[in-house]
This record gives sequence, C-alpha cells and structure tokens, in this order.
Amino acid sequence: MTVDVLFISAHADDTELSCGGTAAKLVKDGLRVGLVDLTRGEMGTRGTPETRQGESQAAANTLGAAFRLTLDFGDGNLRAGREEELQIIDVVRRHRPKLVITPYPDERHPDHARTGRVVTDASFYAGLKSLKTDLPAHRPQAVLYYLQNYMFPPTFIVDVSETWKTKTDAIAAYKSQFFDPKSNEPNTFISDPKFLDMIEARGKHFGALIGAAYGEAFISKQPPRVDDMVSAYAGREVT
Ligand SMILES: [Zn+2]
Repeated sequence: MTVDVLFISAHADDTELSCGGTAAKLVKDGLRVGLVDLTRGEMGTRGTPETRQGESQAAANTLGAAFRLTLDFGDGNLRAGREEELQIIDVVRRHRPKLVITPYPDERHPDHARTGRVVTDASFYAGLKSLKTDLPAHRPQAVLYYLQNYMFPPTFIVDVSETWKTKTDAIAAYKSQFFDPKSNEPNTFISDPKFLDMIEARGKHFGALIGAAYGEAFISKQPPRVDDMVSAYAGREVT
C-alpha cells in the first residue's frame, strides 16, 4: 500500500501530540497517510503494550490513517543499528511516501533523537538502487521534523485550526496515558492535566505566529518552495 506521507515516531502518541492536526489535515485534503511507531511502549509507567496497541489503533482511525504499523526496536533504549535501518528501508520502499515526518534529531528523549537520525539515514539509503532488498528502491522527496521537548525555530508552520479537534480526539484515545480522574495508575509527567494544557498552549502559540487559531511547527533541512508569497502571509500584519 503506497501513501503520500509517512509519519515515523518512537512511541505511539508522539505523532498525535506533535503533529496529529497535520496528519488529520492531510487526510482531509484527500492524501493517504501511514503511521509507524518504532516501539511497543513496554517501558511506559501506565498501561501495557496490549492496551496501548488498542489505543494507538483507535487514534489512527480517528486521524483517518490508512494503516498503523508497530515495530519493536525497544522502548527506553531504542536500537538504531543497521538491522533496524534495514527494517525502515523496507517500510519506506513498501509504502513509497513522498514525505517522511519524524522527530527532530536534537531531542531530550534519546528514543526520539535516535528515531530522527535512523529515519533520516534510512530514507536516503532506501533510494540506493545498488542496495538490494526484496523491494524496489524509493527515495522520499524530503524528511521533515516535528518538535517535541526542545524548541528550535521552525522552517514552516501548518494551519491546523480545522483539525485541532480531531487531534485532541485522537490523543483522548490514549486513555491509559493522559489525565483521567478515575484512574488508579501512578501519575506521570504526561498524565498531569498541565501536560495537555501545554499541548493546547503550544498549538495556539504556533497558530498565532501564522495568524491562525492553531498551528503545528516543522523543521526542514531543505527549504520548501512557496508558490504564493502573498497568501503565505494572509491574515497577518507586520509585528
Ligand atoms: Zn515519545
């Protein structure tokens, strides 16, 4: 199954929290989106890999993703050697995305940073014809990075005002992970209600930077082509 855009993250919920609004917007615009998680979440304080599998599939359905694939590179000590690189090369060659979206490799959580690096490298190597695997070579147009804990100046921001509700619905599918007053599980950094407040505030902040209600920020090593400079700044004024 080919897709237009492939999101490859370390943990289920990373994609939703950082750029779920963008994933939903792409689907709304008629594009095919695939989601890949490199770990099963076995190191999580709350929930089990089995409950998290059900939650992540429900979240994928909410976003309208064509599929969600869970690999097993090891949660909490994500392996990112040649064997794992070859698995990602296989995924890229099978689904032939135009864009790959993954964490920015300079990140607080080493699993995120390793994901950003191995996905960048594998996306390039997937295009090497001399690297023979069972599938034909394919190189995406670009690898784009989303931001998590560390902040860097974004290359561009996507207006996700129309799909912010879909994003928060997808996040709510992770019942075991986020704030639930009825839960008896231990509290964590992300189960504190302040965490989802922060996600909301960040969406509004990035949105404000482009004159929209909500935005999601991305970094790209290659600048995007802008076909309409005037529309790109519509609804804003010099500040
Ligand atoms: Zn994560």
